[in-house]
Amino acid sequence: MSRKHIVAGNWKMNKNLSETQALLTALTEKKNTGDAQVIVAPTAINLHAAVTTLEGSEIKVAAQNMHQAESGAYTGEISASMIDSVGIDTVILGHSERRAYFHEDDALLTEKVNTAIAHGFTVIFCFGEELEDRKNEKHFNVVESQLKNALFHLTAAQWSHIVLAYEPVWAIGTGETASPEQAQEMHAFIRNTVSTSYDTTTADQVSILYGGSVKPGNAKEIFSKPDVDGGLIGGASLKADDFFEIVNAF
Ligand code: PEP
Repeated sequence: MSRKHIVAGNWKMNKNLSETQALLTALTEKKNTGDAQVIVAPTAINLHAAVTTLEGSEIKVAAQNMHQAESGAYTGEISASMIDSVGIDTVILGHSERRAYFHEDDALLTEKVNTAIAHGFTVIFCFGEELEDRKNEKHFNVVESQLKNALFHLTAAQWSHIVLAYEPVWAIGTGETASPEQAQEMHAFIRNTVSTSYDTTTADQVSILYGGSVKPGNAKEIFSKPDVDGGLIGGASLKADDFFEIVNAF
């Protein structure tokens, strides 16, 4: 099994330029004692500075979002080639906040995924059910359709550019975490779904991250599950000590 452990920090709309540089410098002073690839996703305006600050470090930078078009009259948006031009090849797509507040649906996400893949990017693709879905025992159906609608047109070879991030919406920023057993149950379901639509090699190689209130206190137990290959971390990624405690849970 050759899939990677990954711990990615989604900084959302937090940290101005000097704060970004200070947090990144603090991160470079930490020791990664495990085998997780560390990724940070600052806000778009600070991506270039982040790459510069992290020069020589093993920490990678990702964008939090990008537009599906190559260029054009899309005021306020950033394109894949802009991201590429500052030395970044990883983008988070489909975050629940983008789905909820910016109306990103499966069709739009398919276009974004295609553009990202065409640029050779790695996509950290976020998806997950809402509390209502889980209460109605629809969580497996919702997750399956989110994946099928936005990703299952890709070829098996293109899946080497995909990192999955299962983030139950009810656990994001709420302090409520899926139990390690709930995370494992869903991750195993996701891997099985990929295996059924593709093959076991593709399914075994895709890293599936868990996101939703991961903290230093719960990371080890969640990461100990066999189908949990890492985490997408929001709040706890804004403090160097907390983030690296999570990184070092591997
Ligand atoms: C996220 O936004 O992807 C996330 C998991 O946030 P938090 O860790 O704060 O729940």
